[in-house]
Amino acid sequence: MTAPAPKPWIDAIAPYVPGRSSTDDGRKAIKLSSNESPLGTSPAAIAAFEAADRTLHRYPDAAATALREAIAAKHGLDPARVIHGTGSDEILHLAAGAFAGQGDEVLFVRYGFSVYPIAARRVGAEPVEAPDRDYATDVDALLAAVTPKTRVVFVANPNNPTGTYTDRRELARLHAGLPDDVLLVVDQAYAEYLAPEDDDGAFALAQIASNVLVTRTFSKIHGLAAERIGWGYGPAPVIAAMHKIRAPFNVTTAGQEAAIAALGDDGFVAASREHNLHWRTWLEGEIAALGNAGLRAVPTKANFILILFEGRVTAQEAYQALMERGYIVRWLPGQGLPHGLRVSIGTEEETRGIADALREIVAGPTGAAGLAVTA
Ligand SMILES: *Cc1c(COP(=O)(O)O)cnc(C)c1O
Repeated sequence: MTAPAPKPWIDAIAPYVPGRSSTDDGRKAIKLSSNESPLGTSPAAIAAFEAADRTLHRYPDAAATALREAIAAKHGLDPARVIHGTGSDEILHLAAGAFAGQGDEVLFVRYGFSVYPIAARRVGAEPVEAPDRDYATDVDALLAAVTPKTRVVFVANPNNPTGTYTDRRELARLHAGLPDDVLLVVDQAYAEYLAPEDDDGAFALAQIASNVLVTRTFSKIHGLAAERIGWGYGPAPVIAAMHKIRAPFNVTTAGQEAAIAALGDDGFVAASREHNLHWRTWLEGEIAALGNAGLRAVPTKANFILILFEGRVTAQEAYQALMERGYIVRWLPGQGLPHGLRVSIGTEEETRGIADALREIVAGPTGAAGLAVTA
Protein backbone atom coordinates (compact mmCIF):
# COMPACT_ATOMS: atom_id res chain seq x y z
CA MET A 1 0.00 0.00 0.00
CA THR A 2 1.30 3.44 -0.78
CA ALA A 3 0.93 6.33 1.62
CA PRO A 4 1.39 10.10 1.47
CA ALA A 5 5.12 10.80 1.35
CA PRO A 6 6.44 13.76 3.35
CA LYS A 7 8.66 15.98 1.27
CA PRO A 8 12.30 14.85 1.59
CA TRP A 9 13.32 18.10 3.31
CA ILE A 10 10.60 17.51 5.94
CA ASP A 11 11.81 13.94 6.43
CA ALA A 12 15.28 15.36 7.04
CA ILE A 13 14.16 17.38 10.08
CA ALA A 14 15.43 16.23 13.47
CA PRO A 15 12.44 17.08 15.71
CA TYR A 16 12.73 19.84 18.31
CA VAL A 17 13.27 18.41 21.79
CA PRO A 18 11.45 20.42 24.47
CA GLY A 19 12.71 20.67 28.06
CA ARG A 20 11.31 17.92 30.26
CA SER A 21 9.27 18.55 33.39
CA SER A 22 9.25 15.08 35.00
CA THR A 23 11.94 12.52 35.79
CA ASP A 24 12.50 9.18 34.07
CA ASP A 25 10.28 7.51 36.62
CA GLY A 26 7.56 10.10 36.23
CA ARG A 27 8.17 12.19 39.36
CA LYS A 28 7.50 15.88 39.07
CA ALA A 29 10.80 17.64 39.38
CA ILE A 30 12.37 21.06 39.65
CA LYS A 31 12.46 22.14 36.04
CA LEU A 32 15.59 24.05 35.10
CA SER A 33 15.53 22.88 31.51
CA SER A 34 13.61 25.54 29.59
CA ASN A 35 14.94 28.92 30.75
CA GLU A 36 11.58 29.89 32.22
CA SER A 37 10.99 32.75 34.66
CA PRO A 38 11.73 31.68 38.26
CA LEU A 39 9.65 34.62 39.51
CA GLY A 40 6.54 33.57 37.61
CA THR A 41 4.57 36.27 35.80
CA SER A 42 3.85 39.92 36.56
CA PRO A 43 0.63 40.14 38.63
CA ALA A 44 -0.58 42.86 36.25
CA ALA A 45 -0.16 40.48 33.31
CA ILE A 46 -2.05 37.73 35.11
CA ALA A 47 -4.91 40.12 35.87
CA ALA A 48 -5.09 41.20 32.22
CA PHE A 49 -5.01 37.58 31.11
CA GLU A 50 -7.89 36.70 33.40
CA ALA A 51 -10.00 39.65 32.28
CA ALA A 52 -9.83 38.39 28.69
CA ASP A 53 -12.23 35.53 29.49
CA ARG A 54 -15.15 37.88 28.80
CA THR A 55 -14.55 37.78 25.06
CA LEU A 56 -13.79 34.11 24.46
CA HIS A 57 -16.31 33.94 21.62
CA ARG A 58 -14.57 36.72 19.64
CA TYR A 59 -11.56 36.30 17.41
CA PRO A 60 -8.49 38.14 18.65
CA ASP A 61 -7.38 41.35 16.96
CA ALA A 62 -5.66 39.88 13.90
CA ALA A 63 -3.40 42.92 13.64
CA ALA A 64 -2.61 42.97 17.39
CA THR A 65 -2.70 46.75 17.06
CA ALA A 66 -2.67 47.66 20.74
CA LEU A 67 0.13 45.21 21.45
CA ARG A 68 2.28 46.42 18.55
CA GLU A 69 1.72 50.03 19.63
CA ALA A 70 2.71 49.19 23.19
CA ILE A 71 5.86 47.43 21.98
CA ALA A 72 6.76 50.32 19.69
CA ALA A 73 6.20 52.91 22.42
CA LYS A 74 8.34 50.96 24.87
CA HIS A 75 11.29 50.60 22.49
CA GLY A 76 10.94 53.80 20.43
CA LEU A 77 10.04 51.90 17.25
CA ASP A 78 7.57 52.32 14.39
CA PRO A 79 4.50 50.15 15.20
CA ALA A 80 3.89 49.51 11.50
CA ARG A 81 7.19 47.66 11.37
CA VAL A 82 6.45 45.40 14.36
CA ILE A 83 5.12 41.91 13.55
CA HIS A 84 3.59 39.68 16.23
CA GLY A 85 4.02 35.93 16.35
CA THR A 86 2.92 32.77 18.13
CA GLY A 87 6.07 32.96 20.16
CA SER A 88 9.19 34.32 18.53
CA ASP A 89 9.56 30.81 17.12
CA GLU A 90 6.87 31.73 14.62
CA ILE A 91 8.77 34.89 13.67
CA LEU A 92 11.89 32.80 12.99
CA HIS A 93 9.85 30.45 10.79
CA LEU A 94 8.25 33.40 8.98
CA ALA A 95 11.68 34.87 8.25
CA ALA A 96 12.93 31.61 6.79
CA GLY A 97 9.64 31.04 4.94
CA ALA A 98 9.53 34.46 3.33
CA PHE A 99 13.20 34.67 2.35
CA ALA A 100 14.53 31.15 1.79
CA GLY A 101 13.43 28.07 -0.08
CA GLN A 102 14.74 25.18 -2.12
CA GLY A 103 18.29 25.70 -3.34
CA ASP A 104 18.98 28.35 -0.70
CA GLU A 105 21.12 28.26 2.41
CA VAL A 106 20.26 29.40 5.92
CA LEU A 107 23.34 30.11 8.02
CA PHE A 108 23.93 30.06 11.77
CA VAL A 109 26.69 29.25 14.19
CA ARG A 110 27.43 25.80 15.61
CA TYR A 111 25.68 25.45 19.00
CA GLY A 112 23.05 27.90 17.75
CA PHE A 113 19.38 27.77 18.69
CA SER A 114 17.90 24.42 17.70
CA VAL A 115 14.91 25.95 15.91
CA TYR A 116 17.13 27.41 13.13
CA PRO A 117 17.84 24.15 11.28
CA ILE A 118 14.16 23.22 11.55
CA ALA A 119 13.09 26.60 10.17
CA ALA A 120 15.51 26.13 7.25
CA ARG A 121 14.53 22.57 6.37
CA ARG A 122 10.83 23.24 6.74
CA VAL A 123 10.96 25.47 3.69
CA GLY A 124 13.33 23.23 1.74
CA ALA A 125 16.44 25.34 2.38
CA GLU A 126 19.77 23.89 3.47
CA PRO A 127 20.91 24.64 7.04
CA VAL A 128 24.61 25.60 7.15
CA GLU A 129 26.60 25.73 10.40
CA ALA A 130 29.66 27.94 10.80
CA PRO A 131 32.26 26.94 13.39
CA ASP A 132 32.06 28.58 16.81
CA ARG A 133 34.92 30.26 18.66
CA ASP A 134 35.16 28.67 22.09
CA TYR A 135 31.35 28.17 22.09
CA ALA A 136 30.69 31.78 21.07
CA THR A 137 29.57 33.27 17.78
CA ASP A 138 32.53 33.75 15.44
CA VAL A 139 31.77 36.59 13.05
CA ASP A 140 34.69 35.74 10.77
CA ALA A 141 33.55 32.12 10.51
CA LEU A 142 30.00 33.20 9.71
CA LEU A 143 31.19 35.62 7.02
CA ALA A 144 33.47 32.96 5.56
CA ALA A 145 30.50 30.59 5.27
CA VAL A 146 28.37 33.01 3.23
CA THR A 147 27.85 31.85 -0.36
CA PRO A 148 25.73 33.18 -3.22
CA LYS A 149 23.02 30.81 -1.96
CA THR A 150 22.88 32.30 1.55
CA ARG A 151 19.53 34.01 2.09
CA VAL A 152 19.13 34.20 5.88
CA VAL A 153 21.63 34.37 8.78
CA PHE A 154 20.34 33.65 12.29
CA VAL A 155 22.28 34.96 15.29
CA ALA A 156 20.87 34.57 18.81
CA ASN A 157 22.22 37.24 21.13
CA PRO A 158 22.74 36.12 23.83
CA ASN A 159 22.91 32.69 22.26
CA ASN A 160 21.03 29.62 23.45
CA PRO A 161 22.31 27.07 24.59
CA THR A 162 25.70 28.70 25.19
CA GLY A 163 24.66 32.02 26.78
CA THR A 164 27.45 33.79 24.90
CA TYR A 165 27.10 37.38 23.75
CA THR A 166 28.16 39.18 20.57
CA ASP A 167 28.90 42.84 21.23
CA ARG A 168 27.79 45.84 19.22
CA ARG A 169 31.02 46.18 17.27
CA GLU A 170 31.06 42.51 16.28
CA LEU A 171 27.41 42.55 15.28
CA ALA A 172 27.99 45.67 13.18
CA ARG A 173 30.98 43.97 11.56
CA LEU A 174 28.85 40.95 10.73
CA HIS A 175 26.18 43.14 9.18
CA ALA A 176 28.73 45.18 7.23
CA GLY A 177 30.22 42.00 5.80
CA LEU A 178 26.93 40.54 4.59
CA PRO A 179 25.52 41.22 1.15
CA ASP A 180 22.47 43.53 1.29
CA ASP A 181 20.21 40.78 -0.01
CA VAL A 182 20.95 38.45 2.89
CA LEU A 183 18.54 38.84 5.82
CA LEU A 184 20.30 39.08 9.18
CA VAL A 185 17.97 37.89 11.95
CA VAL A 186 19.12 38.91 15.43
CA ASP A 187 17.22 36.75 17.92
CA GLN A 188 17.08 38.69 21.19
CA ALA A 189 15.06 36.22 23.26
CA TYR A 190 17.27 36.99 26.29
CA ALA A 191 18.07 40.66 25.63
CA GLU A 192 16.13 41.88 28.67
CA TYR A 193 18.63 40.10 30.90
CA LEU A 194 21.49 42.26 29.61
CA ALA A 195 22.74 45.37 31.36
CA PRO A 196 21.63 48.51 29.45
CA GLU A 197 25.23 49.17 28.32
CA ASP A 198 25.21 45.78 26.59
CA ASP A 199 22.79 46.92 23.87
CA ASP A 200 24.01 45.02 20.80
CA GLY A 201 22.76 47.73 18.44
CA ALA A 202 20.43 45.44 16.49
CA PHE A 203 17.42 47.75 16.77
CA ALA A 204 19.51 50.69 15.58
CA LEU A 205 20.64 48.60 12.59
CA ALA A 206 17.06 47.48 11.88
CA GLN A 207 15.98 51.14 11.82
CA ILE A 208 18.24 51.99 8.91
CA ALA A 209 19.32 48.81 7.12
CA SER A 210 17.25 47.02 4.48
CA ASN A 211 18.16 43.55 5.73
CA VAL A 212 18.02 43.35 9.54
CA LEU A 213 15.21 41.73 11.53
CA VAL A 214 15.23 41.69 15.34
CA THR A 215 13.10 39.19 17.27
CA ARG A 216 11.94 39.28 20.89
CA THR A 217 9.73 37.12 23.08
CA PHE A 218 7.40 37.38 26.07
CA SER A 219 8.31 33.81 27.04
CA LYS A 220 11.46 34.47 29.00
CA ILE A 221 11.84 37.51 31.29
CA HIS A 222 8.13 38.35 31.06
CA GLY A 223 7.15 34.86 32.18
CA LEU A 224 4.44 34.32 29.55
CA ALA A 225 5.80 31.18 27.89
CA ALA A 226 2.45 29.39 28.06
CA GLU A 227 0.72 32.08 26.00
CA ARG A 228 3.10 31.98 23.01
CA ILE A 229 3.78 35.65 22.22
CA GLY A 230 6.75 36.97 20.32
CA TRP A 231 7.49 39.77 17.92
CA GLY A 232 9.88 41.03 15.30
CA TYR A 233 11.05 44.43 14.06
CA GLY A 234 12.45 45.07 10.63
CA PRO A 235 12.26 47.07 7.40
CA ALA A 236 8.70 47.54 6.08
CA PRO A 237 9.15 45.29 3.00
CA VAL A 238 10.58 42.47 5.15
CA ILE A 239 7.70 42.72 7.62
CA ALA A 240 5.13 42.90 4.79
CA ALA A 241 6.42 39.67 3.23
CA MET A 242 6.26 37.89 6.58
CA HIS A 243 2.69 39.09 7.24
CA LYS A 244 1.58 37.38 4.03
CA ILE A 245 2.41 33.94 5.40
CA ARG A 246 1.54 34.48 9.07
CA ALA A 247 -1.55 32.75 10.47
CA PRO A 248 -4.25 35.44 10.67
CA PHE A 249 -5.16 35.10 14.37
CA ASN A 250 -1.79 33.98 15.64
CA VAL A 251 -1.79 35.56 19.12
CA THR A 252 -4.73 35.01 21.46
CA THR A 253 -6.70 37.86 23.00
CA ALA A 254 -5.57 36.86 26.48
CA GLY A 255 -1.99 36.74 25.23
CA GLN A 256 -2.19 40.20 23.68
CA GLU A 257 -3.72 41.68 26.84
CA ALA A 258 -1.24 39.95 29.13
CA ALA A 259 1.72 41.04 27.01
CA ILE A 260 0.61 44.69 27.05
CA ALA A 261 0.33 44.58 30.84
CA ALA A 262 3.69 42.82 31.14
CA LEU A 263 5.34 45.58 29.10
CA GLY A 264 4.01 48.10 31.59
CA ASP A 265 5.45 46.33 34.63
CA ASP A 266 8.99 47.67 34.67
CA GLY A 267 9.37 46.68 38.30
CA PHE A 268 8.82 43.01 37.56
CA VAL A 269 11.31 43.05 34.69
CA ALA A 270 13.93 44.87 36.77
CA ALA A 271 13.46 42.46 39.69
CA SER A 272 13.80 39.51 37.32
CA ARG A 273 16.99 40.92 35.81
CA GLU A 274 18.49 41.56 39.24
CA HIS A 275 17.52 38.13 40.52
CA ASN A 276 19.06 36.54 37.45
CA LEU A 277 22.32 38.50 37.66
CA HIS A 278 22.70 37.76 41.37
CA TRP A 279 22.03 34.02 41.25
CA ARG A 280 23.78 33.47 37.94
CA THR A 281 26.90 35.12 39.31
CA TRP A 282 26.59 33.06 42.49
CA LEU A 283 26.17 29.79 40.58
CA GLU A 284 29.10 30.65 38.30
CA GLY A 285 31.20 30.98 41.44
CA GLU A 286 30.03 27.59 42.68
CA ILE A 287 30.91 26.00 39.34
CA ALA A 288 34.31 27.68 39.31
CA ALA A 289 34.91 26.10 42.73
CA LEU A 290 34.35 22.70 41.10
CA GLY A 291 36.96 23.43 38.45
CA ASN A 292 39.31 20.82 39.86
CA ALA A 293 36.57 18.25 39.16
CA GLY A 294 36.56 19.35 35.51
CA LEU A 295 33.49 21.58 35.58
CA ARG A 296 33.61 24.81 33.60
CA ALA A 297 30.91 27.43 32.93
CA VAL A 298 30.81 28.98 29.48
CA PRO A 299 30.65 32.80 29.98
CA THR A 300 26.95 33.72 29.88
CA LYS A 301 24.77 36.82 29.75
CA ALA A 302 21.48 34.93 29.68
CA ASN A 303 19.28 33.28 32.32
CA PHE A 304 21.10 29.97 32.10
CA ILE A 305 24.60 28.53 32.26
CA LEU A 306 26.12 25.95 29.97
CA ILE A 307 28.28 23.79 32.24
CA LEU A 308 30.98 21.73 30.54
CA PHE A 309 32.06 18.47 32.16
CA GLU A 310 35.68 17.84 31.28
CA GLY A 311 36.70 15.68 34.23
CA ARG A 312 35.94 12.33 35.79
CA VAL A 313 32.14 12.76 35.93
CA THR A 314 30.52 13.07 32.53
CA ALA A 315 27.64 15.38 31.67
CA GLN A 316 25.42 12.37 31.08
CA GLU A 317 26.20 10.95 34.51
CA ALA A 318 25.61 14.31 36.15
CA TYR A 319 22.34 14.67 34.23
CA GLN A 320 21.09 11.34 35.55
CA ALA A 321 22.33 11.98 39.07
CA LEU A 322 20.66 15.41 39.10
CA MET A 323 17.43 13.83 37.92
CA GLU A 324 17.55 11.34 40.76
CA ARG A 325 17.81 14.28 43.12
CA GLY A 326 14.77 15.87 41.48
CA TYR A 327 16.45 18.40 39.17
CA ILE A 328 15.84 18.42 35.45
CA VAL A 329 18.39 20.27 33.36
CA ARG A 330 19.13 20.13 29.66
CA TRP A 331 21.60 17.60 28.31
CA LEU A 332 22.24 18.35 24.66
CA PRO A 333 23.97 15.47 22.88
CA GLY A 334 21.76 16.08 19.83
CA GLN A 335 23.28 19.55 19.48
CA GLY A 336 26.86 18.39 19.58
CA LEU A 337 27.15 19.01 23.31
CA PRO A 338 27.30 15.55 24.92
CA HIS A 339 29.76 17.09 27.41
CA GLY A 340 27.51 19.94 28.50
CA LEU A 341 24.47 20.60 30.66
CA ARG A 342 22.44 23.76 30.31
CA VAL A 343 21.03 24.87 33.63
CA SER A 344 18.42 27.62 33.92
CA ILE A 345 18.68 30.07 36.82
CA GLY A 346 15.85 29.20 39.18
CA THR A 347 14.69 30.56 42.51
CA GLU A 348 17.21 31.02 45.31
CA GLU A 349 16.21 27.67 46.79
CA GLU A 350 16.49 25.88 43.45
CA THR A 351 19.83 27.49 42.64
CA ARG A 352 21.31 26.65 46.04
CA GLY A 353 19.85 23.16 45.68
CA ILE A 354 21.40 22.45 42.33
CA ALA A 355 24.79 23.72 43.50
CA ASP A 356 24.59 21.35 46.48
CA ALA A 357 23.61 18.50 44.19
CA LEU A 358 26.48 19.19 41.78
CA ARG A 359 28.95 19.33 44.64
CA GLU A 360 27.74 15.96 45.93
CA ILE A 361 27.78 14.41 42.50
CA VAL A 362 31.35 15.36 41.64
CA ALA A 363 32.50 14.36 45.14
CA GLY A 364 31.15 10.82 44.62
CA PRO A 365 33.71 8.56 46.38
CA THR A 366 34.37 6.18 43.53
CA GLY A 367 33.80 8.62 40.73
CA ALA A 368 31.47 7.90 37.86
CA ALA A 369 31.09 4.25 38.80
CA GLY A 370 29.97 5.28 42.27
CA LEU A 371 27.08 7.33 40.98
CA ALA A 372 23.71 5.72 41.25
CA VAL A 373 22.81 6.06 37.60
CA THR A 374 21.11 2.72 37.27
CA ALA A 375 17.57 3.74 38.27
C1 LIG B 1 13.28 30.62 23.99
C2 LIG B 1 13.88 31.12 22.72
C3 LIG B 1 13.10 31.65 21.69
C4 LIG B 1 11.68 31.76 21.66
O1 LIG B 1 10.76 31.29 22.25
P1 LIG B 1 9.23 31.60 22.05
O2 LIG B 1 8.66 31.02 23.26
O3 LIG B 1 8.80 30.90 20.79
O4 LIG B 1 9.07 33.07 21.92
C5 LIG B 1 13.74 32.15 20.57
N1 LIG B 1 15.05 32.12 20.45
C6 LIG B 1 15.83 31.63 21.40
C7 LIG B 1 17.30 31.67 21.21
C8 LIG B 1 15.27 31.08 22.56
O5 LIG B 1 16.06 30.54 23.48
